[in-house]
Amino acid sequence: MFVFVCTGCGARLTAPLSEVALPVHAHQNYGNGIQLPVLMESGTFAVEPEPWGPPWRRWEEIDPDEAAARGIHAPVHALSDGAPGAIVIAPGDTRATVLIPERGGGYCCGLGWGDGPNMACEACGLPVASRIDDCSTWQAVWLAPDAVHRLPVDVPSEAADTTPLSWAELTAQGKGTPPFEPIGRWGARIGPNCWWSWSPQWEAAAGRALAHLLAASQGRPVTVPDGLAEEVFQRALDTLLPAGPPTARAVLAGPGLPAPDTDADILLVPTHPQTGEAWTPAGGPAYPVPVPVPVPVPVPLPVPVALPFGVWLWLAFPKPHLPVPTSGRIPDGILRDDPPAPRPHHLFRIDPGVFQHALVRLSAVRSPWLRDILRNCTQQMRARIF
Ligand SMILES: [Zn+2]
Ligand SMILES: [Zn+2]
Repeated sequence: MFVFVCTGCGARLTAPLSEVALPVHAHQNYGNGIQLPVLMESGTFAVEPEPWGPPWRRWEEIDPDEAAARGIHAPVHALSDGAPGAIVIAPGDTRATVLIPERGGGYCCGLGWGDGPNMACEACGLPVASRIDDCSTWQAVWLAPDAVHRLPVDVPSEAADTTPLSWAELTAQGKGTPPFEPIGRWGARIGPNCWWSWSPQWEAAAGRALAHLLAASQGRPVTVPDGLAEEVFQRALDTLLPAGPPTARAVLAGPGLPAPDTDADILLVPTHPQTGEAWTPAGGPAYPVPVPVPVPVPVPLPVPVALPFGVWLWLAFPKPHLPVPTSGRIPDGILRDDPPAPRPHHLFRIDPGVFQHALVRLSAVRSPWLRDILRNCTQQMRARIF
């Protein structure tokens, strides 16, 4: 485990933390005036490998070669000129910091990125982090990569074991991300200002996966498994891709599932929540296991498309009803699974920001048909797939 210390004076600025993968919804901007929860689980941190945060440079000011060197293959509104490697943690895991009040202006319901770090080291006053909790953003503290050092720490033995869980352990733990949840506006209490919605995490996960599905389709129509995957992806795929054969077939693959059909074109696989690595079948470099044949025939391997583990788990092992917290005579902590949780009143929509963020980072976006899809995002928003 690690703590992060101030580069100015060495003061400890965090609790002991272990590293996990950066959530796909880390930079999500969800809805209008919505209150989102804390991004990171307490006791964890994640690193954004790309530059993030102010100052920003508009696309017109950026040389296309510089953008390509940064892994951006199509126009975006702006790129960060900040330092790469920002560390994101739960606000409750910060220690010995103070807010910088004069950096607290210009936001809506809470604190935003503004012009730079809005938290300082309490001991030496060095600006060290940005506390973000404005409406429609996930609440987090982003440590400035050039203002903190990471130091290993000794902690009690049971907490020190940060070996990543095996896929079997993760599946047994069963921490799925429910597809629907109650959403509310900032400052709203339970009541008419809260409603059941598709999960923002699902919308973000689908945004990244859709970009990869489109690239893997090579312009062919794509089908996904019936049920929840169909609700999440099929309308967008049918709108964005041409109709008619030959069709690419996407299937779910991962821990606890039987080996998928060998004629699948795309595998929807989970990413490991700690390492961020996508699942691959154990014991082999490629999938499916190559079978020796007298004449070598090139068999195209199915293309993996990754989903966050919690979302994938729910797709692979759906639960019939979501438990709903209830009041009355049921004891504390008991969840009742009847009647089923209310369903959102609208069809699933894919997060357009996460979709574009992922798509411009795929070199396939240089092909004209994918570039057209990127360009027409605003039109597709009117078709309500985003
Ligand atoms: Zn300091
Ligand atoms: Zn607001």
